[in-house]
Amino acid sequence: MATHNLLLLPGDGIGPEIMVEVKKVISWFNAQGGDSFETDEGLVGGSAYDAHGVAISEEDMAKAMAADAVIFGAVGGPKWDSVPYDVRPEAGLLRLRKDMELFANLRPAICYPALADASSLKKDIIEGLDILILRELTGGVYFGEPKTITDLGNGQKRAIDTQVYDTYEIERIAKAAFEFARTRNGKVTSMEKRNVMKSGVLWNEVVTATHKNGYEDVKLEHMLADAGGMQLVRWPKQFDVIVCDNLFGDMLSDVAAMLTGSLGMLPSASLGAADPKTGKRKALYEPVHGSAPDIAGTGAANPIAMIASFAMALRYSFEKVAEADMLDKAIANALAKGLRTKDIASEGTKVVGTSEMGDAIIAELNALSA
Ligand code: NAD
Repeated sequence: MATHNLLLLPGDGIGPEIMVEVKKVISWFNAQGGDSFETDEGLVGGSAYDAHGVAISEEDMAKAMAADAVIFGAVGGPKWDSVPYDVRPEAGLLRLRKDMELFANLRPAICYPALADASSLKKDIIEGLDILILRELTGGVYFGEPKTITDLGNGQKRAIDTQVYDTYEIERIAKAAFEFARTRNGKVTSMEKRNVMKSGVLWNEVVTATHKNGYEDVKLEHMLADAGGMQLVRWPKQFDVIVCDNLFGDMLSDVAAMLTGSLGMLPSASLGAADPKTGKRKALYEPVHGSAPDIAGTGAANPIAMIASFAMALRYSFEKVAEADMLDKAIANALAKGLRTKDIASEGTKVVGTSEMGDAIIAELNALSA
């Protein structure tokens, strides 16, 4: 039996509250007698700033680099709004992404049957939805140089952001997309703007060439990113895996996310390159939402995005597909019983707090494994 090392970084606000619920899930899996998870804990964000004056200490960074996966809560809050820019809470997350070279951001958009009525779209459009958006996370216009605002001296200023992609950056995210598609419904839709952007032309070329080079069993289609945005709200079930650059991925993943309802429901994973020897990827799993300072300490936080992020860790870091499916099913079953945290409550449902929702998911795990 293998032992997997997890570094838990709860962070700030509701981060520590939802991490408690993940710990219950980890203990549950440990008690089943299969592979086990050993956990260590560190500080990130405002809590790290309070303790060490930085957004993440070197010691915790080293632990993150050595871990099989990092499970991250959320960072930030008004308490740290005026700390120096380079030690602001988000700097901890950015440092983790950069040093761990997490170039692939995975955001699934899954519609739980019990929440199909909560979407802003009609039920038949989103019921049964299960798509994965793969966003390139470390390149593109957010990082390209030059990145400047210049005073033109005539009362005008000029702002420049630069979109830069090299072949290797596109190739590695395309490979990841094809590999994930193989474990799902075997289809990748690549989105760019090749009609108006040179980076879109190269993106299209490299994705096509990568597909021809060992991934032809996966169906590949190309779509202009603006048309893709329209199709996402028109008929999202046509997609399986969508792959796109940092900027388009940022927007399209938010659109896809809201198809399924609340922020409190959305997990994510950020992965690095596969190690050529072991095939293992550096990985960080986190809910999409922030530290929700408005509800921190009230026991109202929805722990589902955090627990579903751990399900992604089971699936993508530890190849525990059956266990991941079981955890996802346990979440769906708790919802099907009518339990809801406040953010997803609707008429006729029972509102529960963070720990009751965690306990309900554990009870469903017990039922599924009985
Ligand atoms: P937020 O995601 O924290 O909250 C937005 C709204 O959604 C709030 O009303 C909040 O109560 C609600 N919400 C979020 N998660 C929820 C959950 N699990 N259960 C129930 N309700 C939930 O975004 P924000 O308010 O814009 O930002 C708050 C802080 O979080 C800021 O400091 C921001 O910088 C930080 N932030 C951090 C991350 C991260 O750690 N990855 C991401 C986004 C924002």
